[in-house]
Amino acid sequence: MEKETLKGESQENDHPPDTDVENNACLSENNVNRDSAVITAGLKSLPRKSIATVEQLSKFINFDDTTRKALNEIVKKYHLLISPYYLSLIKDLNDENDPIRKQCVPAIEELFGNATERIDPLGEKETSVTNILVHRYPDRVLLIATSRCFMYCRHCTRKRLWQNNNVEPSLAEIRSSLDYVRGNESIREIIVSGGDPLTLNQERLDWILEEASSIAHIQAIRIGTRTPVVFPEKITKSLCRILGKYNKLWMNIQFNHPREITPESTGACRMLQKCGIPLSNQTVLLKGINDSPQVMKELCQKLQAIRVRPYYIFQCDEVVGASHFRTSIFKGIEIIEHMRGHTSGMCIPRFVVDGPNGKGKIPLDPQYMLSITPNKVILRNYNNEVFEYYNPQSD
Ligand code: SF4
Repeated sequence: MEKETLKGESQENDHPPDTDVENNACLSENNVNRDSAVITAGLKSLPRKSIATVEQLSKFINFDDTTRKALNEIVKKYHLLISPYYLSLIKDLNDENDPIRKQCVPAIEELFGNATERIDPLGEKETSVTNILVHRYPDRVLLIATSRCFMYCRHCTRKRLWQNNNVEPSLAEIRSSLDYVRGNESIREIIVSGGDPLTLNQERLDWILEEASSIAHIQAIRIGTRTPVVFPEKITKSLCRILGKYNKLWMNIQFNHPREITPESTGACRMLQKCGIPLSNQTVLLKGINDSPQVMKELCQKLQAIRVRPYYIFQCDEVVGASHFRTSIFKGIEIIEHMRGHTSGMCIPRFVVDGPNGKGKIPLDPQYMLSITPNKVILRNYNNEVFEYYNPQSD
C-alpha cells in the first residue's frame, strides 16, 4: 500500500542522511575552513557519508577482533550513525575516553545491563494518548514526529524509537494527534521531538508547524534537536526560511561538551537566532564526558557566549545499554554548587531528574536553607557563610 504523502514530499526519506547538502549556508556564511576540522581530528579525509556500520568505522578506528564482533552485536540492536562532521571532532580516534567519541561510538558496556534499566524509562508509552503523542503534564504535550536522527547518541533515552527499524509516524497519526491538541484547550505548548524533527522532510516539518501554529490556544511550540551539534551543515537557508515563519517557535538543543561548540555549530545557532528562534540547551550528565564541575562550567559559559541559554542538566535516564554513562545524583548537585555564585546565574542550568514511569521532572539543588522557623531562616551562601535572615510573616 502506498504511504500518504504531502505535496512535494517523496515517499522515501533518505536514510542514513548523507553529506551532500544543498545550500550549505552554515559553513559558507561563517567562512569555515573544513580542512581545519579534518586536521584537528587527525583524519586524512572525512568520509563522504555518515558512518552506519562497524566496517565503515573500522577504516578510522582500530578495533581488535573481539571488539569488532561485540560492536557488530550492539549495532544489530541499536543503530550506529555518525556524521562526518561529528567524527572530525574526535581528537584521537583510538582514545576510548575521548568525550566526543564516547557519545557516538558504541562501547562494549552497552551489552551489559542492570536491573533498573528499561527500554522506556520515562514510561512515555503509558502516558501517550495516541501512538506519537505523550500527554503527561497538564498544559503541554510531546509530539514524537520522527524516529530518525542525524546521529544516534549512545546515551539516548528514546532508543526504543530507533533501536531496530525506524518506523515513521504516518500523516494520519500526526493529524489525529494534532486533533487531540485542538480539542483540548488546557494544552498551551507542543514539544516537537523524536528522534530529531530537523531530519524531517522540509514539507512535512513546515506542515506540522503550520498546523500546530494554527491552533489558537497553542502559545509555544518547542523543537528538541541535536542537529546544530552533530550535523550543523543541515541548518540551511531553506530550513531557516521555514522555521522563521513561525513566531511561536522555541528550540532546545543538546550540547554536552565544550568541544562541541565550534565555528560550525556556532554558525548554525546564529542562523537559527537570526530567524528569531530563542535557543536553550539541555545537557545530559554523562560519566567521563561532562561529569566534572570544570567541564560543565566551561560548557555553560561557552553556551552563554553564543547566546544559547543553559536550561537543564538532566540526570542520565535508566535506559537500556547506558548504565556506564550514569553518575551519582550527588555529582549533579556538586556541579551546581560549584557554579552557583561563581558564575553568572544566566549560565547556570537546573539539575533535574526525570522521574521513572512518567513521574515528571524533579529539580535538585544544593541545600542553601539550613533551617526555618516562623520568624527566621538560617541560610548558607555560595561562600559557605551561614547567617540568619528575618522571615516576614504572611497574613
Ligand atoms: S539526537 Fe536526541 S533523540 Fe536522537 S539519538 Fe541523540 S539524544 Fe536520542
